[in-house]
Amino acid sequence: MKYSVFTEEHQAVRRTIRKFVETEIAPHVEEWEREGYFADWVFPRMGELGFLSLRYPEKYGGAGGDYFMGIVLAEELARCGCGSLAMAVAVQTDMATPPIMQFGTGEQIKKYLVPALRGEKVACLGITEPNAGSDVASIQTRAVRDGDHWVINGRKIFITNGVRADFITLVAKTDPDRGYNGVSLFLVDKDTPGFTVTRKLEKVGMRSSDTAELLFEDCRVPAENLLGVENRGFHQIMWELQGERLMGMACAVSGAQRTFEKALEYARRRTQFGRPLVKFQVIAHRLAEMATEIEAARQLVYSTARKFAAGEYPVKEISIAKLVCAQVSHRVADAALQIHGGYGYMMEYEVQRSWRDSRLNRIGGGTDEIMKEVIAKALGL
Ligand SMILES: Cc1cc2nc3c(=O)[nH]c(=O)nc-3n(C[C@H](O)[C@H](O)[C@H](O)COP(=O)(O)OP(=O)(O)OC[C@H]3O[C@@H](n4cnc5c(N)ncnc54)[C@H](O)[C@@H]3O)c2cc1C
Repeated sequence: MKYSVFTEEHQAVRRTIRKFVETEIAPHVEEWEREGYFADWVFPRMGELGFLSLRYPEKYGGAGGDYFMGIVLAEELARCGCGSLAMAVAVQTDMATPPIMQFGTGEQIKKYLVPALRGEKVACLGITEPNAGSDVASIQTRAVRDGDHWVINGRKIFITNGVRADFITLVAKTDPDRGYNGVSLFLVDKDTPGFTVTRKLEKVGMRSSDTAELLFEDCRVPAENLLGVENRGFHQIMWELQGERLMGMACAVSGAQRTFEKALEYARRRTQFGRPLVKFQVIAHRLAEMATEIEAARQLVYSTARKFAAGEYPVKEISIAKLVCAQVSHRVADAALQIHGGYGYMMEYEVQRSWRDSRLNRIGGGTDEIMKEVIAKALGL
């Protein structure tokens, strides 16, 4: 066994997912990336195979696996040839739904979490707004209580799965005078009157994942769709972001590993000045550096995941891992493109996609700069 964090059971699941990715996903990647949308059958198919619920309890229809089962899924999906699919699935399994399991009522779990784990309902997570990204507490989407409903008004932007989602885990202001302590979470069905997908956004990378701009206009949501405790939403979403960052980085590192393998293969094959590129020491050393950075980043994800899985709340370590892995993934992709020379700049080579996709890791789920802010704060600065 290569890594001691994984048991034989993890590796058996890994083999099953790898086969699924190779036979059912990879053959469609080029087409989905061109179209800017992966097929709608992916979520139900993955639900049917039990992949969306690997680390969820059996009582919710899950396999009852541990946190590292989730990492196995993230790592294998990231090897499909694009970053989009792993990101979309991570939104479903590790971003929009964990708050429902953690803070939801029995009824909310039945109505939203269980169908999401089966792939029957697609979920998205709405934090970011046109005027509020890194500064989450400054969101302007407003929810006002009106009898046994909440009336929601506002806009969200850059929402992954937002075009196809059946419901959104939404962050809104419920008491604007109380800053961090005036934010709450809601579950909003897509067919609620007043909820509109206003735009599918065109992106540089992660092209087959749909990214939406959403509008809420006098959108009336039943009172029971408040998720968790009123005005505790900021703290709840900060908890969610820790898991999101960690799982996102498991995807990033695995994607970097695949990109590295492609560069290595190319450097062995491509001959210039009478010898393969790997025989130039500068190329061999660059590959050695890439392998070293990937391995260090991977071990950082595993050691941080061990703490998170054991119930710790290692915010500083997760921020460090996010910062390191995001930068490593893009540095590796850039070096891999350079090793491919002009071919690397051509759309027919996968490395250009890794280069475009990996750039998001330094922005999404909290930018490099925000990770440095969190780390500096943890250092007492
Ligand atoms: C493809 C994609 C998918 C996404 N999916 C989702 C999703 O599903 N749900 C969701 O809610 N959001 C999503 N996001 C939003 C993402 O999390 C935000 O883009 C990110 O948090 C940054 O916010 P911003 O874009 O508003 O940038 P800003 O916050 O405006 O930042 C702009 C620049 O200023 C820097 N900056 C900001 N504040 C500081 C500071 N205090 N100190 C130093 N530098 C600072 C930033 O680091 C950045 O470089 C997605 C984004 C993209 C691009």
